[in-house]
Amino acid sequence: MKTELIRNILSLKAENQPVELSGWVRTKRDSKNLVFLQVNDGSCFSSIQLTFDREKGISPETEDTLKKITTGTSVVAKGILTVSPGKGQAVEVLTENIKILGEAPAETYPLQKKNHTFEFLRENAHLRARTNTFGAVARIRSQMAYALHTFFQEQGFQYVHTPIITTSDAEGAGEMFQVTTLDLKALAEKAVSAGNKGMQPEKAASLIDYSKDFFGKPANLTVSGQLEAETYATALSRVYTFGPTFRAENSNTTRHLAEFWMCEPEMAFYDLKDNMDTAEAFVKHLLNWALTKCREDMEFFDQRIQKGLIETLTNVVNSEFIRITYTDAVKELEKHNGNFEFKAYWGCDLQSEHERYLTEQIFKKPVIVTDYPKEIKAFYMKLNEDGKTVRAMDVLVPGLGEIIGGSQREESYDKLLSRITELGLKPEDYWWYLDLRKFGSVPHSGFGLGFERLLLYVTGMSNIRDVIPYPRAPKLADF
Ligand code: ATP
Ligand code: MN
Repeated sequence: MKTELIRNILSLKAENQPVELSGWVRTKRDSKNLVFLQVNDGSCFSSIQLTFDREKGISPETEDTLKKITTGTSVVAKGILTVSPGKGQAVEVLTENIKILGEAPAETYPLQKKNHTFEFLRENAHLRARTNTFGAVARIRSQMAYALHTFFQEQGFQYVHTPIITTSDAEGAGEMFQVTTLDLKALAEKAVSAGNKGMQPEKAASLIDYSKDFFGKPANLTVSGQLEAETYATALSRVYTFGPTFRAENSNTTRHLAEFWMCEPEMAFYDLKDNMDTAEAFVKHLLNWALTKCREDMEFFDQRIQKGLIETLTNVVNSEFIRITYTDAVKELEKHNGNFEFKAYWGCDLQSEHERYLTEQIFKKPVIVTDYPKEIKAFYMKLNEDGKTVRAMDVLVPGLGEIIGGSQREESYDKLLSRITELGLKPEDYWWYLDLRKFGSVPHSGFGLGFERLLLYVTGMSNIRDVIPYPRAPKLADF
């Protein structure tokens, strides 16, 4: 049954050798003596051309088979690989034998036209990988995952699997999906039968007994593997996680998903500068990988999705990222406040419009902003001497804004404890995290790269729902 991948056949020198392949028919063209099929198996961007020559004779069975073939039909074929006399392809297969594996009736197969809208294809998420665009996105996604492991593994980082279900909130700021085996319907019924008349919310809440829940306490899907990654970084020195994370943020943007993949390196004995150097080298490694190893798919994105993409990314690989403090960035932005819906001022959280202005208008390249006010960043970031800012770093890129968020972590037990209490978090919820600062504490740093944000950047695609096979967002989990 097993045949050769089309990518391997297309890389051969055509010397009239026999080949056998399988795939899905993209187009059929019948012109007098010749029939051409374009067959694609997703192993590479290109389809291969199968040629049938009536002058050389086509058997009646084959004529019959060809009649039944429509766009989307799956086939297996045998023939001779030859240099193609036609334009548009270097080689073709003079086909001697073709069999239909599965028909795709033209009246019902959704992928007929060549240029379906991305909205239409989202509603056909189970078939969209058979299109040029989504096939290319899927291959780049796979390659970027491979590249990410390569980058870290070659530098002595260990891959750590952090838990998906947790009882701690890494960011200390809500927006989590609860995981429970409690019977919500039964609880609601109990609440009703307990008498609705003026029941106090506290009373109603007390009907939920988390000690009876699966974990004996409230549990959630993780929003980040960072805290657990820190426990391994303070044992193995350099580690990284790569896995799904979940955020119940009710923001219907083109840059947010409810389920997304994140890569989080965490390094002991690294300060903020080491962290920035790693993040910059990492992004460049990934872009360079796409440019050099995924040439065919990248050329498609360059021509059809975002004109000039290859040149833009090549320039990014070959130039240095801007590094600027939050305070200086705000000074720059304040000069342009006339252009913003939300005026910039010291203390404000940078809006997407500010991030894009910095990268697209002022610097025209990726920018690393550091040392944000502590009020707008998470509790675990290391406090600066000024007592007002923390050693945070966000990597911003043109067209997108934030792609990486990271920091040097607070390694002082006392300072971390006072940040936790200051923010109204419960120290007992973080006892094990605090332990890392009690026993052999070390300076350490890390960051999180949103994998789908990276994919938007690399492919030039504009909606994050189009760079993950099955997007999850508010009211969207249909497949
Ligand atoms: P943003 O301000 O864009 O919502 P954030 O500050 O919430 O980002 P972090 O908590 O620092 O982001 O998460 C690290 C990285 O994860 C971000 O830099 C981004 O690339 C990615 N990310 C965060 N939230 C989402 C989301 N809902 N969907 C996809 N990627 C995300
Ligand atoms: Mn967010």
